[in-house]
Amino acid sequence: MLRFAPSPTGDMHIGNLRVAILNFIVAKQRNERFIIRIEDTDRERNIEGKDKEILAILDRFGITYDDVVYQSKNLSFHQNFAYKLLDEGKAFACFCTAEELEQERQKAKEEKRPYRYSGKCENITLQEASQRGEPFVVRIKKPDERLCFEDKIKGDLCFDPFEVDSFVILRADGRATYNFACAIDDMLYDITLVIRGEDHLSNTPKQIHVRKLLGYDKEIAYAHLPIILNEAGKKMSKREKASSVKWLLDEGFLPQAIANYLILLGNKTPKEVFTLDEAIEWFDLADISKSPAKFDIEKLRFINRAHLKALPKEELAKLLNVDEKYADLAKLYLEEASTLKELKEKIDRVLQCDRDFGEFEEEAFILKNIILDIDIPEDFDAFKKILMERSGLKGKKFFKPLRLLLTGAPSGPEMQDIYNAMKNSIKEVVSCSS
Ligand code: GLU
Repeated sequence: MLRFAPSPTGDMHIGNLRVAILNFIVAKQRNERFIIRIEDTDRERNIEGKDKEILAILDRFGITYDDVVYQSKNLSFHQNFAYKLLDEGKAFACFCTAEELEQERQKAKEEKRPYRYSGKCENITLQEASQRGEPFVVRIKKPDERLCFEDKIKGDLCFDPFEVDSFVILRADGRATYNFACAIDDMLYDITLVIRGEDHLSNTPKQIHVRKLLGYDKEIAYAHLPIILNEAGKKMSKREKASSVKWLLDEGFLPQAIANYLILLGNKTPKEVFTLDEAIEWFDLADISKSPAKFDIEKLRFINRAHLKALPKEELAKLLNVDEKYADLAKLYLEEASTLKELKEKIDRVLQCDRDFGEFEEEAFILKNIILDIDIPEDFDAFKKILMERSGLKGKKFFKPLRLLLTGAPSGPEMQDIYNAMKNSIKEVVSCSS
């Protein structure tokens, strides 16, 4: 089974979405189940409604799943396993106060070394602990030896015991910490492969350590995806607009284009523009580069335009909220627009009646009346010929007002193409133009 494990603590960003998509693809390829696990154990940071928002985004991207589970529901399992470790002497009760730990942290900072637990409570027995009658947290004992695993992207990795450290697994209020809950849940749901961002890399030995001490010997494979950098080459922060999936959707990037782009990011793919179904046919984690990938909005725009071009007419018209008969015209404007938002602006400009003819008011009026009066020919040359003959206009005085009349803008795609895309509704467009 594979899983996507979002925390309902903020807006979904492209890094999360990339993780969701790749887990979905691999689950499909292996014909394994795929679940969404909402990691809601950090109560202070949870934001009401974010879980539903995340699920709605996955739906928009066509990412289907077999089940949704809430980590908080597994609390009793987390506690039982923590107590099992405590009973077996593989974990210990820690009575160190927050102030004490903070002082140690400060000291480590001053000495410019990473903070590690001092080991002070390590030898307190369970019996002593229960006799004290004071609240305590449960810490797992750090490993005795180096812990190694193979990452499907990064290769072989080893961590020293001090990097795992004797970390807290159960808080004083009885709730599991993130690493412990995650390690237990991956075991409970029989997860076979974890694909997640490399920001979790230092958590992995901790989680492996937990399961080792519990005697779970089934190996869970890991693939840590390199981080996404912004255009300046820095880690893309959640505050950057383009990192928010919601922002990208609001800007008019299609879900299929965003998914395409995120699969492409830092990857070797047989082509640049593809659908999720196609990616399921050839995607291979081994092709993902070890080094960070740079987010390039221009590339995303290019891919978005390709997906917009490939959209069936009815769908494009629906997305633009225009009549289907204007879909061809809209496609023409893809020469100048890359997002739905930009395209909508262009097509709305053509279809709105309000026109600014500037110095060509009179000519536009003459042309409008002729167009409304004639039978519209198939061919643009014939159309031009009739209009020129009947109006007596030519050159700039003919072409400028004609373009403004038909499109509302002084420049744009070739008139011939516009005519071909619009001829069946040209009278409708022109009759309201004023
Ligand atoms: N909840 C974690 C996050 O949103 C993911 C943990 C994991 O995939 O193991 O970053």
